[in-house]
Amino acid sequence: MSSVLVINCGSSSLKFVLLDPETGEVALKGLAERLGQPGAHVLFKGDESYEFDLQQGAHSEAMQAVLAELEKRDLMTKVRAVGHRVVHGGEHFQGSIIIDDEVLTAIEACSALAPLHNPANLIGIHAARQHLPHLLHVAVFDTAFHQTMPSHAYLYAVPMFLYKEHGVRRYGFHGTSHRYVCQRTAQWLRKPTDEICMISAHLGNGSSACAIVNGKSVDTTMGLTPLEGLVMGTRSGDIDPGILPFLCEVLKTDVQGVNELLNRKSGLLGLSELSNDCRELLEAEAQGHQGAHLALEVFVHRLAKAIAGLMTNLPRIDALVFTGGIGENAPSLRARTLQRLGLFGYRVDTQANALCVGGKEGQITAAGSPLALALGTDEERTIARDTLALC
Ligand code: ADP
Repeated sequence: MSSVLVINCGSSSLKFVLLDPETGEVALKGLAERLGQPGAHVLFKGDESYEFDLQQGAHSEAMQAVLAELEKRDLMTKVRAVGHRVVHGGEHFQGSIIIDDEVLTAIEACSALAPLHNPANLIGIHAARQHLPHLLHVAVFDTAFHQTMPSHAYLYAVPMFLYKEHGVRRYGFHGTSHRYVCQRTAQWLRKPTDEICMISAHLGNGSSACAIVNGKSVDTTMGLTPLEGLVMGTRSGDIDPGILPFLCEVLKTDVQGVNELLNRKSGLLGLSELSNDCRELLEAEAQGHQGAHLALEVFVHRLAKAIAGLMTNLPRIDALVFTGGIGENAPSLRARTLQRLGLFGYRVDTQANALCVGGKEGQITAAGSPLALALGTDEERTIARDTLALC
């Protein structure tokens, strides 16, 4: 009776997992895709994976299909509460919270800051509350962990009225992952979480790094939107803002066009002219593909530079942790990053580093070097834990 249904709802997708936050055991997981478009379907993953088409393709129908499957597998009685991933909590939410009408209004108010994400998250919340009105629903925000950043880290050097009147500041994202990784690091070091000083580098399709002092986020690479910071699969990360008007002029496009270019056609994909997928790029690089090599070199250069910058926030560093699909599975990129941080004393243990792939965690630096670890992240379990804690 202590499982939590975790919902991550996007504009055309709905990911779900039913798991026990104590043990991490997953009873059912899957995703619905192409919602609101032709070809909408839902996929259940597990011992018996299967897919079926949705007639109308609405989020509500997808939710109904998930619940019917839970009923069919006799899992409905296990669902204690529902945890919802919400991307943007603005300055309103410093932690996870039980959803009521007031909370919904506040999440709606944050939609201006995340027009692609928050409205989709809200659709998921409404659909789940409609079908499961008797259960507690909890919102867990990507931004909440970073609300402890001091003003010198979250303010942009732009006129103050932009912050005061329009909320223009750095918010940061991936907070649920950075928080989980900090807790795992504390376990690893056998220290209380609130004594941990570290850098967490979450490297996936989206990537961000975070400086953590005494268990609290004090700086991070993402900003007002998840476009700022590191080089990502299809996102540029940091660029000269002067590029925006320049591109509007030379490409004869508008801000929307440039936004699309920077979010969907840049990053590893744009540089390599091959793929946004890191694994594919590593394979291509090994076969001499110049574009793949260039993209990965820019990726590690910018990552090392960002980590070095984030270190200025720390009184000491207990661990530098790599996580996310790339951070957990690409030893060569971890090594290339650490080599660039040699000035700080980092030395890779090549053998240990090579072993940390596919879920195997551990130390990747040699004796005498500052500590670097490869650790798995688990945002869904963190959402489930937060949810159960509020029950
Ligand atoms: P998301 O941000 O969508 O959650 P993930 O954390 O799953 O993304 O990370 C996806 C990235 O991880 C992709 O670029 C993928 O190529 C990369 N990745 C996964 N496995 C490997 C691997 N064995 N070697 C290199 N990169 C990998």
